[in-house]
Amino acid sequence: MSHKFVIVGAGLSGLSNAFFIKHFFPKAQITLIEQSNRVGGMIVSNNRNGFICEEGPRSIRMGKYNRPLYHILNKIGLYKEFVPSIQQPYSYIYWNGKLNAVPLQMNLGTISQFIKDNGSGDLFKLIKAYPKIMLMNPNTDNLGEYLDHVLGKDLTEKYAESVFYGIYGESVYNLSKALCYTKSHMKGYDDQEISKDLSLDKDFEQVRDEKLQGANSYRFKNGVESLTKRLHDYLQETYKMEYKMQLNSKAKGIDLAKKELIVESREEQEEQRINYDYLILNAPTHQLSQIMANSNLNKIGEMFRGVKCNSLVTRNICWNQKILPKEFEGFGYLINPKQEQVILGMVADSLSFPSQYPENATNLSVMSIYDVNDHVILSELSKHLGVKIPEPKEIITKSWSKAFTRFSPGHQEEMKKIESELNTKNIIIGANNYTLAIPELVYLSYSKMKQLYL
Ligand SMILES: Cc1cc2nc3c(=O)[nH]c(=O)nc-3n(C[C@H](O)[C@H](O)[C@H](O)COP(=O)(O)OP(=O)(O)OC[C@H]3O[C@@H](n4cnc5c(N)ncnc54)[C@H](O)[C@@H]3O)c2cc1C
Repeated sequence: MSHKFVIVGAGLSGLSNAFFIKHFFPKAQITLIEQSNRVGGMIVSNNRNGFICEEGPRSIRMGKYNRPLYHILNKIGLYKEFVPSIQQPYSYIYWNGKLNAVPLQMNLGTISQFIKDNGSGDLFKLIKAYPKIMLMNPNTDNLGEYLDHVLGKDLTEKYAESVFYGIYGESVYNLSKALCYTKSHMKGYDDQEISKDLSLDKDFEQVRDEKLQGANSYRFKNGVESLTKRLHDYLQETYKMEYKMQLNSKAKGIDLAKKELIVESREEQEEQRINYDYLILNAPTHQLSQIMANSNLNKIGEMFRGVKCNSLVTRNICWNQKILPKEFEGFGYLINPKQEQVILGMVADSLSFPSQYPENATNLSVMSIYDVNDHVILSELSKHLGVKIPEPKEIITKSWSKAFTRFSPGHQEEMKKIESELNTKNIIIGANNYTLAIPELVYLSYSKMKQLYL
């Protein structure tokens, strides 16, 4: 078996692909093709006057799918820079003109606050729905239809819509139950089995257990971007000539007969042809449809074209003072799509990671579907929080246009069809076609490379 791997996209998917390729195929030659002038893709951390501003992901969730990512963090030594989140008692939902508490910790205080804000009727309905959530399995991949069955329409509309709209920027009635709720793409995950491939050092486990105890997510001393920067440095230092990064280079098409990737470089006049044994494509869906169409893979191009993409605008807003009301004790809040606001939700970064911001400072990340003037965002914030918002010290805006594959009902089945067509051509599609969550993305990279090895 020859071992020439070409990877399109140097975000976390591409970098973790490279890491696991070297794990399973030590002699592999890897070339990464990246259209921008940096590695990291959506992971962007900026330090502005002592404020860590995350323009993309702001934290990595803990939980059961972390081992492949932990293995990487162990190898690249980044675990020494773990910053745990401080768990807040609540998240909030904006509903009927005010923020309503939703407990993130179950105790008497948080439950009584929930009843105060939402009434005891909602609590009873939720308790009654719980066994149905565990037992009912209506045969539909439409998340909204499923939730209507198990929760009832009013709970779905108020709570589930807010949560899923906040994460996926889309109504539950347009989302896949398999991908967004049941997570069936993670079915093969088996920690015991994975531990045979991916060990963790005692020192790693000790530091992790000490530092992350009681947290539900984490990031790093200099922000999430340390992950992609350090992983790239590690791969370069460890594998030298066997790991090649080509920045400012855009993948345009594939010559299937010759097994060549066609690349347009900003620095070269002529297009370049790069020979591969295996080609891994981590570009977003709308780019993949273009690459397929340019490669006489029209049927697959059409299938990718049918996949909708969502956009998002994030704003990091910083103040040198406390601006949240005293009673706000939340990770952040979500806006129900029925409430007709521009903002989708807000994450209170400086409450979750206080050690990363100047004392008494506030840093909020505000998400919206489309871009509007800063003053619209600030006036909505003020309305939601019920306080007068002072002039911010800094606002950093980032627009993520068509960046997110929409996980519509039937999406997983569609991807399986595409994969079966591409596998025979030694082309692998990226994990971002199935998930947004960082630990899951890294696990899927690992499992795809392992399948090749087996
Ligand atoms: C605002 C925001 C908040 C998020 N919050 C969280 C969070 O809190 N927790 C969490 O776990 N996840 C979160 N995510 C999701 C997570 O960041 C992403 O799922 C993950 O970073 C995607 O990595 P990727 O490598 O698959 O894709 P990307 O990072 O998009 O990388 C793809 C790369 O491919 C390159 N590329 C595209 N087309 C071509 C081409 N034709 N040729 C060459 N290169 C190309 C791009 O330039 C890019 O560098 C968030 C994302 C965003 C944007």
